[in-house]
Amino acid sequence: MSQRMPDRLDPWRFTDLGKEISGQIPLGSLPRLSACLLDRAGEVAFDLHFQRDLQRRATLTGVISTVLVLECQRCLEAVDLPVETEMAIAFVEGYDQAAQLPEGLDPCIVEDGQVQFMDLIEDELLLMLPQVAMHEPDVCQKPLTEMADEKPVVQEALIGENPFAVLSELKREK
Ligand SMILES: [Zn+2]
Repeated sequence: MSQRMPDRLDPWRFTDLGKEISGQIPLGSLPRLSACLLDRAGEVAFDLHFQRDLQRRATLTGVISTVLVLECQRCLEAVDLPVETEMAIAFVEGYDQAAQLPEGLDPCIVEDGQVQFMDLIEDELLLMLPQVAMHEPDVCQKPLTEMADEKPVVQEALIGENPFAVLSELKREK
């Protein structure tokens, strides 16, 4: 185990050494990810292991966990997204090798014999971001009905309920 955070590292050498890396890094040190967050104060914990798999592939496997604070797209308040993800990547030298990987192993194409360790973690977390972050309806600050008012669908429904409203609308337009 090592607490030292490597920046660029040689994945082939780390694999041959069977290196284990665990520790914590601040979310704020991952620029692409933290740009998507409402609160960048948290940390990412990781426990990762470089090793050869049964097919002699160089792999990095382990667990990454954190809590991402996103902005609810309904009420614009903070919504916590706890993340605990199993990482399983294989280091490859090109797209041909990447295409041959079995399902369950994500390719990481190594250029110049080096990888950015932080990028590996950041890429993994970026995949966990939902397309639209939202609270569960029962805890969201903004009631569903309020949000529905913004949609034209509801307007049609109201008109249906009161045909006289439609008439008065028409008169007003003339
Ligand atoms: Zn909400």
